[in-house]
Amino acid sequence: MTPPPGQIDSVLSSTRADFRLQAKASGESVDHADTRWVDVHRHGKMRSGRTISQQINEHSTIKFTLDLGDGHQSESVILPMTGRTGRQRLTLCLSSQVGCALGCGFCETAAMGFIRNLTVAEVLDQWHVAKFRFDSPISNIVFMGMGEPMENLDTVLQAIRILTDRSGPAIAPSRVAVSTVGRVAGIDRYRDFMTHEDFRRVRLAVSVNAPNAEIRRELMPITRSDSMPELHQAMSDWIASGGKPILIEYVLIPGVNDAVDHPAQLARWLEGIDCRINVIPYNPRRNSPWPAPTESSVDVFIDALRSEGCRVHRRKTLGRSVMAACGQLGNEHVRRKVPLRVPRA
Ligand code: SF4
Repeated sequence: MTPPPGQIDSVLSSTRADFRLQAKASGESVDHADTRWVDVHRHGKMRSGRTISQQINEHSTIKFTLDLGDGHQSESVILPMTGRTGRQRLTLCLSSQVGCALGCGFCETAAMGFIRNLTVAEVLDQWHVAKFRFDSPISNIVFMGMGEPMENLDTVLQAIRILTDRSGPAIAPSRVAVSTVGRVAGIDRYRDFMTHEDFRRVRLAVSVNAPNAEIRRELMPITRSDSMPELHQAMSDWIASGGKPILIEYVLIPGVNDAVDHPAQLARWLEGIDCRINVIPYNPRRNSPWPAPTESSVDVFIDALRSEGCRVHRRKTLGRSVMAACGQLGNEHVRRKVPLRVPRA
């Protein structure tokens, strides 16, 4: 049974238990509510009011945008990724905001400025479109699209509760990652969430991108309010509370954070933290002051980190030409209204 359009957002944004309670409170059949919830989240029986306004395929990468009905759009990317065992998986990169306030110097979304938070229904709708309209067997979810998830954390946590429900989307908690640029209060709250037995295996990714505070302040303004020592403490607390190893993201930018002494500095800063580093070759955004790094410079950086004892993985760059690669999401027309901040190289 497909619920009427008026109920779609309510179904999308409720856990199964909450949806049953809502039905009970309004005198509806709890069993019918239960069936509706499972029909929507498990079988994709819904008519979303949001239309897909863009669909680009490139080397199996799909970037799509959904009209939100207020002149704005969410943006999402379906990425084929090869796991450590060599198995191919489809990862869905979800947006949590329209635009972003945090102004990271390498990021395309930053140029939009912050427009608004997405609702739970708008986050879940991205998953529904990926799973049912694009018929993609999504196995992994990363909150790594537009926006800083920790700035809209209530919404992100509710989305995770729904996405991991075994009678609904049934994404394994160990395959859900929230990526932050280092909002310490948000990491602490996410850690509390993780200590609940149902969510013990959710993942934390931290976009570090700099070997020291000086470079990080230039590249990522959040470093001025949430310092590197505070970030280090939040990451240590995550591990001490039983959190899984942290994924450290490091966007490698030529002439900014790839100097010969930077791998050793980064390794020293990460000492004592159970983590794996993902080195992501910089994807030049529009009017970028920096080029992409050469293959050999990426190899040299990774080898140097490994010789410091770090576990390192090289992220393959997917979707570069459709502006679907890391740090490249953001509506082009809105983006032009906000001047890009160019940190000193
Ligand atoms: S990298 Fe993330 S937090 Fe930084 S500006 Fe871009 S979207 Fe915002």
